Amino acid sequence: MTEPSWEGPPGRASAADRGEDAAPTVRRLLDEARASIPLREARLLLRHVLGVSHAALEAHPERKVSLQDTASFRALAARRAAGEPLAYLTGHREFYGLDIRVTPAVLIPREETELLVEIAVEKPSQRILDLGTGSGCLAIAVAKALPQAQVTAVDASAAALAVARENAARHGVAVRFVQGDWFGPLGEERFDLILANPPYVAGNDPHLALGDVRFEPRSALAAGPEGLDDIRRIVADAPAHLVPGGRLFFEHGHDQARAAAALLAQAGFVAIEQRRDLAGILRVTGGTRP
Ligand code: GLN
Repeated sequence: MTEPSWEGPPGRASAADRGEDAAPTVRRLLDEARASIPLREARLLLRHVLGVSHAALEAHPERKVSLQDTASFRALAARRAAGEPLAYLTGHREFYGLDIRVTPAVLIPREETELLVEIAVEKPSQRILDLGTGSGCLAIAVAKALPQAQVTAVDASAAALAVARENAARHGVAVRFVQGDWFGPLGEERFDLILANPPYVAGNDPHLALGDVRFEPRSALAAGPEGLDDIRRIVADAPAHLVPGGRLFFEHGHDQARAAAALLAQAGFVAIEQRRDLAGILRVTGGTRP
């Protein structure tokens, strides 16, 4: 910035003299952003602003970026430097190979939740329920992988359901979306498979105050003093919403595998099964209604 002077505003030539060319290059913007965020993230944000592929960005480092795009990029880089999740800044996250739109109204899809899709795909079921669908990622991935299935997805948040509906439409799948509290809106309806990635973080877990999760909906993360409040409700109410032989599988915290299995056994589930995520942590537990 140059102070305005009585000699008049600084002209183009003087800006160029200072190396502040009106439209900076891709290279310069990335160099500038690297001071505050990782280069990988800077590239992603710049690609998002310019609407170009990784290859196109890499191939043309001397490309000039318009002033408007420069301003957009700098604003996003500053928000990222202040901690906002990349997925909220770009509005996208990949899940099970699908591009999922996300907003701060929904939990950002996690890789470990793909375990639930794998369970659905291994042994296809007809009527499938996704409890607490959020962005819709799980219901949509399942519906896409199992075109014969009838998939229902429930969420308490109208804002989340709007995002989920948009995602289903973008992926061309017919998922029935229902607003309500867990099984609340489903009456007596029964399913062959119930999946859930419920909130399961303990309310006082310091994890909630760190990194990306600070920006995510607390209602999608925290579940009472042990993080088990919602899992307890889901497990207790699931048998009434499963056909005999129907299955319930849900995601849980790294230290909840034992409690999850115990709750299922208590509710009369058999063939209790657990799956590890890519980090080797028991992350999903489920069972069958006899
Ligand atoms: N795994 C997420 C986290 O630790 C929590 C997701 C959830 O509560 N369903 O941030």
